[in-house]
Amino acid sequence: MIKDKDPGKGRTGSRKNIGGEPPVICSFCGRTSQEVSSMIAGPRAFICDRCVQSSVEILRKEISAIRHTDREAEPAFQPRLQSPRTIKEALDQYVIGQDQAKKSLAVAVYNHYKRIDAHDWSAEDDVVIEKSNILLIGPTGTGKTLLAQTLANLLEVPFTIADATSLTEAGYVGDDVETILARLLHASDFNLDRAERGIIYVDEIDKIARKSANVSITRDVSGEGVQQALLKILEGSVVGVPPKGGRKHPEQQLININTKNILFICGGAFEGLDKIIARRVSKSSMGFGSKVKDKQTGYDPEILKLVAQDDLHDYGLIPEFIGRLPVMSVLDPLDSPALRNILVEPKNALVKQYRRLFEMDGVDLDFTDEALDRVVEIAIERGTGARALRSVLESVMIDIMFELPTLSTSGVQRCVITADTIDKTSGPVYYTRDGKERKTA
Ligand code: ADP
Repeated sequence: MIKDKDPGKGRTGSRKNIGGEPPVICSFCGRTSQEVSSMIAGPRAFICDRCVQSSVEILRKEISAIRHTDREAEPAFQPRLQSPRTIKEALDQYVIGQDQAKKSLAVAVYNHYKRIDAHDWSAEDDVVIEKSNILLIGPTGTGKTLLAQTLANLLEVPFTIADATSLTEAGYVGDDVETILARLLHASDFNLDRAERGIIYVDEIDKIARKSANVSITRDVSGEGVQQALLKILEGSVVGVPPKGGRKHPEQQLININTKNILFICGGAFEGLDKIIARRVSKSSMGFGSKVKDKQTGYDPEILKLVAQDDLHDYGLIPEFIGRLPVMSVLDPLDSPALRNILVEPKNALVKQYRRLFEMDGVDLDFTDEALDRVVEIAIERGTGARALRSVLESVMIDIMFELPTLSTSGVQRCVITADTIDKTSGPVYYTRDGKERKTA
């Protein structure tokens, strides 16, 4: 910040421009003295009261961030170490199905935090336990983000989600990978100890694959460059991070974050990966291969489970990057029964959430079985997994919730959503306190 080197010369400008002099302009934001309350003058610059105020805020935040980074000041943060079984059981309360993925995650996370615990004595040992970053492969809306988010909540560690497609290698327009770390720091309230043991979920990791591993086009800079940039933080390094995110610039104060103990969970749909695997499998085993080829019409989760590092390489991920994601897990597409369960079973299932909202207005909410089946049918048609459940329900519930307070005061006590309500061919069935049915259009 430019300071008034000679305070004696400093003066506060008034709102008005006196005697036709050229207008005084804030050297920071360009506002004229007419636009602000006061203007402070330095030898060759002016600063307005607004810029002073925002500078004070920036400094205050940075000072607080630096204070938080003082490890001496606070006891070291230790995530709660829970057994793989406990982790899986807790995940079961929020995530339907995906048993194999839950088990792999539970073990990987358990080992990860055990590895951090063991760090002190393992220094003398020659066994170095490597970081177990995780790759989740599975179609959209099958629970990849939900698994990562639930894990972080469970372990009470800071968590952030990054979209790989918004990342660029340094120097290009877009987010630097450092911004992910800045967000994690933010999520940990600028407590560096906590941030350095957090979890980062990188979504759409398949989108930064080189477009084609075998077609020789001009080098696909963005994809491979981002993989290289991510590699650095995935494998563990000390990265200078601007506390507020955004691009680094020379005078900015940076906070050094060590990513060695940050757990990265990467997720992607990897469309077309099944074909790459099928090709490899059919080459190595004719019998199995022919069976596989028959199934090529649609998405084949069984083939996906045979994924090997070479397939990911063929897909366009560089070997070093794949090497940093040693734990791989494939999520199942969600079938109708799974979607039906997702509507009602998880701790914060959509139906439970709507029920609670209605309860607050003194109305009991019910869905008929046919209504729930219909929601699932429409969601399946949309092909975006469980993600569609919310949008289908929300489009129906908005109108009903709009009228809810009025209905409640007019004596309605129960609201039943039928399949016709979902199809929007009729409204819900309402019942008043005296048990009478009230028809709606
Ligand atoms: P993905 O990351 O695989 O694309 P998400 O985890 O973001 O999918 O899921 C989208 C939404 O669908 C979540 O908010 C969650 O409510 C729901 N959902 C998806 N899969 C499941 C599941 N297996 N169990 C419970 N809810 C799920």
